[in-house]
Amino acid sequence: MNSKFIPYGRQDIDDEDINNVVKVLKSDFITQGPTVPLFENLLSKYTHGKYSFCLNSATSALHLACLSLGLKKGDIVWTSPISFVASANCALYCGAKVDFIDIDPFSYNMSVKKLEEKLINAKKEGDLPKIVIPVHLSGQSAEMIKIKELSKEFNFKIIEDASHALGGSYKNEKIGSCKFSDLTVFSMHPVKMITTGEGGVITTNNKLIAKKIKSLRSHGITKDTLDMTKVPDGLWYYEQLELGYNYRMPDINAALGITQLDKLDKFVSKREEIANYYDKNLIDLPLKTPHQIPNCVSSRHLYIIRIDNKHSKFKHKDIFSRLRDSNIGVNLHYIPIHLQPYFQNLGFIKGQFPEAEKYYEEAISLPIFTKLTKREQDYVIDTLRKLII
Ligand SMILES: *Cc1c(COP(=O)(O)O)cnc(C)c1O
Repeated sequence: MNSKFIPYGRQDIDDEDINNVVKVLKSDFITQGPTVPLFENLLSKYTHGKYSFCLNSATSALHLACLSLGLKKGDIVWTSPISFVASANCALYCGAKVDFIDIDPFSYNMSVKKLEEKLINAKKEGDLPKIVIPVHLSGQSAEMIKIKELSKEFNFKIIEDASHALGGSYKNEKIGSCKFSDLTVFSMHPVKMITTGEGGVITTNNKLIAKKIKSLRSHGITKDTLDMTKVPDGLWYYEQLELGYNYRMPDINAALGITQLDKLDKFVSKREEIANYYDKNLIDLPLKTPHQIPNCVSSRHLYIIRIDNKHSKFKHKDIFSRLRDSNIGVNLHYIPIHLQPYFQNLGFIKGQFPEAEKYYEEAISLPIFTKLTKREQDYVIDTLRKLII
């Protein structure tokens, strides 16, 4: 029995990170100073997204992404039911309606086949979505080329929820390049690829969207005289032009992000190594290991297996609780969003998205994070094996 609890994910923070945060703490600006813009430049350089914006969470980022595309009451957003609730809530914040596209049985991302079918149907009914939000589950990209094609045919905008996927790429394009979308959103919560404590990032190549995000992130206020409606009363003058929010990231947090970003590629390789070791050591068991689509780099944020409830010694729920009893912090990403009580109250019912519901009866996220030791991983593998055969 392993005496120490092994979580499914955790941050990797070193002295370089700590020193950089301390440096900002000792400087003149701990928020709204030069560190956030510096981090944003580095993020644009890394992702090849022209404009980058740091925000206080990916949830705020998703909200502003929707607002920047003009989402309002009467509009419709589609996303994947296998995601964190924030992927759907952003639509509701704007007064829009949300609906889901069932998942692909191999990648567990939004099924592009089901997306196309639903679009053809929605066109007939006159209720096409304004925005589609594909979620790159585990850090593996959704099928963006096809989604982009469909967006032209059916006239919708695309926000990539890449909360899991910083450091990954799709057909040789970095996630965040927005080659196949209008905006991309990343999360910097501690379990994600890199962390700023709490934090979110938006990338976009669209100048008007960028301007809107910048304004909405800080109360809808401008200090740029070119944007003002009146001649400034004096040097103190600013104007609020629209209803915005305080969704800013403090410089303290951005300082952590800068040194974390330096290590991102190393983090991805380390996670790849861990994933490959799981693949190799679970291959003979009656369970599904993660399916990787060709010509893409998954950031390997999560390592999700699917239990074969017919051929395993124990069933999914039992395996999960026995792993937890063994001090292994397995998790389940995610409970299908449409099964949440809040969404059931909006009219969603069980049975609507069968692939997502089947996934929910089989999926387990095994521990994967940069500091997971070989010994800990062997312990996870051995414990799991005994529950399967
Ligand atoms: C973590 C996560 C979010 C929310 O991120 P926060 O930074 O915690 O607000 C949104 N979508 C997905 C898919 C996530 O995993």
